Amino acid sequence: MVTRTPHVLIIGAGTGGLCLAHGLRRAGIGVEVYERHRSRADGLLGYRVGIGPTGSRALRDCLPPELFDIYLATCARSPRYFNVLDQKLRPTASFPLRPDTHPVDTERSVARMTLRQVLLTGLEDVVHFDRTFTRYEQHHDGTVTAHFADGSTATGDLLVAADGTQSAVRRQYLPHAVIRDAGTINIATRIPLTDDTRALLPPAVQRGISLIFGTGGMMGVLHVMEFKWNADGRLKPDVDPADAALLADWPGLRHDSTRDNINLVVWSTARRFPEDVMRRRGSELIQVALDLTANWHPRLRDLLRQADPDSALPIRVSTSEPVPPWHSSTVTLLGDAIHTMTPGRGVGANTALRDANLLRRQLILAAAGEKSLIQAVADYEAVMVPYGFARVADSLARSGTSGDDRMYKPVFGRLALLGARGYFRVTSRVPRLRRKFVDDFYTYRGEED
Ligand SMILES: Cc1cc2nc3c(=O)[nH]c(=O)nc-3n(C[C@H](O)[C@H](O)[C@H](O)COP(=O)(O)OP(=O)(O)OC[C@H]3O[C@@H](n4cnc5c(N)ncnc54)[C@H](O)[C@@H]3O)c2cc1C
Repeated sequence: MVTRTPHVLIIGAGTGGLCLAHGLRRAGIGVEVYERHRSRADGLLGYRVGIGPTGSRALRDCLPPELFDIYLATCARSPRYFNVLDQKLRPTASFPLRPDTHPVDTERSVARMTLRQVLLTGLEDVVHFDRTFTRYEQHHDGTVTAHFADGSTATGDLLVAADGTQSAVRRQYLPHAVIRDAGTINIATRIPLTDDTRALLPPAVQRGISLIFGTGGMMGVLHVMEFKWNADGRLKPDVDPADAALLADWPGLRHDSTRDNINLVVWSTARRFPEDVMRRRGSELIQVALDLTANWHPRLRDLLRQADPDSALPIRVSTSEPVPPWHSSTVTLLGDAIHTMTPGRGVGANTALRDANLLRRQLILAAAGEKSLIQAVADYEAVMVPYGFARVADSLARSGTSGDDRMYKPVFGRLALLGARGYFRVTSRVPRLRRKFVDDFYTYRGEED
């Protein structure tokens, strides 16, 4: 039984891995993070991720307090409405959301690259870039060695797979775990936010999360991302002085090219896309999005035409199947590495952060000698696996992220669309239902089951 402070190796400097690294470091537990990207600015990370109460709570618990304040200051302006639109930009429903006065109990819009820069702050000496994990070995003395593509190795007491959907650690540790194609494809685009592009959107859409239910099984989501800095990276004049002071000293902005933008993602069943869509990039990919949205409002199509070609990205959506229980050991997993989910409920990153916080708490108990390291890992996994795969199932059932959704069936699709629009219309107009919808929106994202 390892009773000394464990030394933890984390594979993957993504959302969950970096949050865990902060939490362990603050607790005095040794940690090293290995990331395949070559530098902190690598990766196509410019998109929006919605962080709800679960994610913000984990960040508050794991990050040093001043870094949590920087996280809050670097979020985009918070959404004030959850809108449901049809393909002609007509509102089916609009639900006012809570103001963002509470640091945790709210919905925040975060740019992935900005969040990464926040999470890398203060970990510069323990995050090793350009280290692609290839395999591990578990030793009889209870240690574990990670091997990397450059021939180097690292040895510690626990190896944490935080290496995302295609996890190489999972492939070796749980080779029977099933990751599968959910059957939908997204095309994500980013449009620079200017006076002209903003003017294409109704006011509630400018300040909201807007889900587009189009005819013919075409879906979309639109977010306007406005930050506290302008196009040349300087702070905007109206920034609150406390935030300005925090951001002026924060080195992360130097590595972050994120600027005000409109995130527009369109998706449908994979059957509707050209066969080579995953190989297309730039204006060719934007043209696919335009072809699939031919009956959408001219303003939405105008936005697509103005998308930055370098930002256009095809995403084949994956999901996972529940993994039967396994014997806990000196290898464990968190986030997408174990429970990849579709973006249907927008909780994948929130769940990765929740895992990080839970594992942190267990490892602190092990470091204090209150339980063995393996018991701490087992107690973490016993809680994480059920809630993780519950989120996988809910996510697959939502927002047409499964290619088998009724919405994509030839005749039922039309009825399903009418049903979905009817549901949102009625829910938004009946005060009791509207209140419940908004409460559920936060409760779901803040739930600790
Ligand atoms: C279109 C879309 C929208 C989404 N929107 C939301 C949302 O609004 N809210 C939300 O909560 N979630 C959202 N998600 C889900 C969310 O992005 C993921 O669930 C989350 O990023 C998972 O975090 P992670 O730490 O597990 O993995 P990641 O953040 O993917 O990090 C994995 C890291 O491991 C590295 N890595 C991989 N292999 C290796 C290797 N062999 N060696 C070394 N390093 C390696 C990768 O480079 C990466 O840095 C969305 C997902 C998609 C596709």
